[in-house]
Amino acid sequence: MPGIERTLSIVKPDGVEKGVIGDVLTRFERAGLKIVAARMVQLSVSEAGGFYTVHRERPFYGELKEYMASGPILVLVLEGENAVTMTREIMGATDPREAAPGTIRADHAESIERNVVHGSDSPESAAFEIPYFFPEIEVYSY
Ligand code: ADP
Ligand code: MG
Repeated sequence: MPGIERTLSIVKPDGVEKGVIGDVLTRFERAGLKIVAARMVQLSVSEAGGFYTVHRERPFYGELKEYMASGPILVLVLEGENAVTMTREIMGATDPREAAPGTIRADHAESIERNVVHGSDSPESAAFEIPYFFPEIEVYSY
């Protein structure tokens, strides 16, 4: 199917804690994205570091690993037309002060770090991030 993509999304520890899992999933489903894999997990600091290895030189990397390992997260694979871009649009900008009104981060994020949700930033990132959590056999097309 041309244009059909998969992307990795995460409801981060603050999103789970705030009780906005349902709201996040509803926004994705209403946009026509299919939830084709889902699992709750609590990462170790080193597993969180592996996921965010692209940011290993950033000054916030240490804090980011601790934050991502601080509680359970809901990891998702979303599938649909332009799923990568669509998911990023529904999430809003990294910094909630810059996030467009009506986006998840504008509505729920408290800071540039504790911003509720993750979404792959490109198909190439998705191709690394999806198998970090899910073997192909656990991603269900329907
Ligand atoms: P995004 O999640 O929008 O793709 P990045 O990939 O740039 O953003 O950053 C990954 C995550 O690292 C962010 O979602 C956020 O949790 C954290 N982060 C990004 N920038 C900062 C920062 N300046 N200070 C603290 N944490 C940050
Ligand atoms: Mg990113």
